[in-house]
Amino acid sequence: MFFDNASTTKIFPSALQKYVEVSENCFYNPSALYGKGVEAHNLIDEARMSIKNVLGADRSDQLIFTSGATEADQLAILGSIRKNGGKLLFGLGEHPAVDQVAKELENKGYDVDYIALTREGTVDVEDFKRKCTKDVAFISIMHVNNETGAVSPIKQLVTIAKTINPKVIFHSDGVQAFGKLKVNVTSLGVDLYTISSHKIHGPKGVGALYVKNGINLKPVTIGGGQEFGKRGGTENVPAIVAFADACTTISHDIDVNYQHIQTLKDTFIDGMKDYLPFRLHSFGGSPYIISCSFVGMKAETLLHSLEQYDIYIGNGSACSSKKTNNRTLSAMKVSNEEIISAVRISFSFEQQIEDVKYLVEKIKQEVDRYLSVLYRK
Ligand code: PLP
Repeated sequence: MFFDNASTTKIFPSALQKYVEVSENCFYNPSALYGKGVEAHNLIDEARMSIKNVLGADRSDQLIFTSGATEADQLAILGSIRKNGGKLLFGLGEHPAVDQVAKELENKGYDVDYIALTREGTVDVEDFKRKCTKDVAFISIMHVNNETGAVSPIKQLVTIAKTINPKVIFHSDGVQAFGKLKVNVTSLGVDLYTISSHKIHGPKGVGALYVKNGINLKPVTIGGGQEFGKRGGTENVPAIVAFADACTTISHDIDVNYQHIQTLKDTFIDGMKDYLPFRLHSFGGSPYIISCSFVGMKAETLLHSLEQYDIYIGNGSACSSKKTNNRTLSAMKVSNEEIISAVRISFSFEQQIEDVKYLVEKIKQEVDRYLSVLYRK
């Protein structure tokens, strides 16, 4: 049972089929001038249009395909900022794909500041109001936190920022929101929005950056002028087509899936609520992600002991699982003892209530066994 769907998801059969079909039948270089190349190029354009529709983008807006969200995040940041162009603001709980860039820019002498998180893990609107001054040129705040599922009020933050400085560029990493919540980039008001294919049952190695019409992005990868000159490199046509297919599939079921996942989350919390070592760090927010601790048992120990039952959960974020500290939970003022034992359980529509009950049972069993051995010592 795979309860680590925030790290990646299983590809939809139809997306996989598209991937194979295009790899076999339309493997041509989309930049080639002959008819077959144009065919491949047309497939990219169709995929672009259908993902733009799912995102609620305007026809004039751009969507730039990348190798994934990490690259899209970096294109958003490095493509927008200018040295001495103004202050840069980031949320304290951003994914390393954003946070590491922020740190790097800070080291290079850019004027960087970070917005605090609330106890619930969302960006603190009061702190945002304090720090979002007229000289802020660029902001990056994630939509849904990948460790806790906390949903930050992006629309409200955009409105505040643009009222203070209409020229500010607002980027949001929407990786854990897209395909799970109803996302409409036009109504959010963002200038840039990052999405990733493998988090929504598409293939790995492909993502995209939504770019609002009028935003002047500098390319980060230069070369053959692909993707409107914003991202050089031959496009991964099969993956792009399969990504669009996964987007369409998932977009039809957002409401149904959301209700189902909410039931799974409720089942988990209900099963744990009277269990003494249990501490919850996900309040409200997206039901797809639960962050919680089983105090006294290290996350890694629990994670490995569940493997014997073919149960897979995450510890914090998979991308930062090798690091012991956890920025998001620290920013939420979660105690060190709880951070060490924090695990991440993330659902997919494929799981059923019975699976979650089994998960609850096995976690309790393993935590009890571990703690009783500790206690005996
Ligand atoms: N941003 C967030 C919020 C994520 O959860 C992830 C993946 O864990 C990424 C970015 C990186 O995505 P990708 O694997 O597509 O580079």
